[in-house]
Amino acid sequence: MNIAPNDLVLEIGSGHNPKVRADVLCDKYLLDDTERGGAIVADRPFVVGDAEALPFRDGAFDYVICTHVLEHAQDVERFIAELQRVATAGYIETPSEVGEWLYGWEYHRWLVNRIDGRLVLRRKTERGPFGRLFHEMGATDADFMALHRRYHHVFLVQHEWRTKIDYEVRDTGDAPFDLDDEAVATAMLQGGARPGPMSRVKSAIWTRMPDSWRAGSKGLLTRGARSARRRVDLRDVAACPRCKGSLRWESGAAHCEADGLSFEIRDGIPILLLPDEAGAA
Ligand SMILES: [Zn+2]
Repeated sequence: MNIAPNDLVLEIGSGHNPKVRADVLCDKYLLDDTERGGAIVADRPFVVGDAEALPFRDGAFDYVICTHVLEHAQDVERFIAELQRVATAGYIETPSEVGEWLYGWEYHRWLVNRIDGRLVLRRKTERGPFGRLFHEMGATDADFMALHRRYHHVFLVQHEWRTKIDYEVRDTGDAPFDLDDEAVATAMLQGGARPGPMSRVKSAIWTRMPDSWRAGSKGLLTRGARSARRRVDLRDVAACPRCKGSLRWESGAAHCEADGLSFEIRDGIPILLLPDEAGAA
């Protein structure tokens, strides 16, 4: 992730394992652990908010980290528009289509691939055939996990963006690549490796491959990032999730005068969800 030392960084869907470098955390669920791996961590400024109605001012952040959240979206276009509204750059990570079929998370709504630098999204209409099989293998077999890590470019989509998120939503049920094509399958497996200068054929294949398959391993955590974190007052970045206007802050609640909405502050954590979603927190 290309995060500069002074960047103000938001993480959305930070859940039980926030990134070290995130200055502000945002998650929709405080108590409900259904769609994550453990209890929420709120060890720094934290806001309960919905990624599709983010409670932050326009351009409040330099960078937004969003890993393993986009595939949960109800309205993926609204979700992406909100990321672009609150930050000037960011990083999106999701399971790839291959990972999605292999692991079959029942609560994911989108199949995601990265083709020529663009996110290609298709609505997921079935869960996939393997149930819990590979989750169990991952939990019990170190060799399988080593294999998963070695081929993480096959199982993950990693997309860093600046200013604009290049994406399209496709209605077609077909995958945007043909794994019956040996060259496509081989290139997917090679992932992070670079094509040799001698192989013109290989390079030609290479240019047709999604960038994520070439991306190779990227460190998600920056050493020393904890000390690089910026001190931030939530009142300077948070906003009404409906009108994105300023809030009036009291000790136990924040208010949007324009919309006549009040938001609870629970143990120092503002619950900035729209009224129809507030029950979920
Ligand atoms: Zn408002």
